[in-house]
Amino acid sequence: MAQRLVRKLCQKCKKEVHLEGVVKDRIEKIALSIQDKSYSYQLEKMWTAVGCADCNSTGYKGRIGVYEAIYTDAKIEEVVNQNPSEHEIQEAALPQGLLNMSQDGILKILHGITSLEEVERVIDLGEALS
Ligand SMILES: [Zn+2]
Repeated sequence: MAQRLVRKLCQKCKKEVHLEGVVKDRIEKIALSIQDKSYSYQLEKMWTAVGCADCNSTGYKGRIGVYEAIYTDAKIEEVVNQNPSEHEIQEAALPQGLLNMSQDGILKILHGITSLEEVERVIDLGEALS
């Protein structure tokens, strides 16, 4: 299992942003790739950091992990033996229906836990879309 830490948005001062255009397209694409339909999310808005006295003007307070869980099944073992890229491992893990790091990150953005900037700082969302 892989993990990256992102800062959590300060719940007191985070600002709502309407999702639109290219940003919405990118987020929607990752969200729609989530195979397990029991995860709920909205695609109307996300939140950005502002800053207030409560968070030392950083806009963030605390940290949370963005996770990726992969069961090592036969398919994964076969791919891993071929010295794959992170992206190739993700591809092989898709049938498992587990969240990859991009998907987990997007859910945390859509739930207002962290910001797109934070997730992009630790995960290459562009690669996840290729
Ligand atoms: Zn704040």
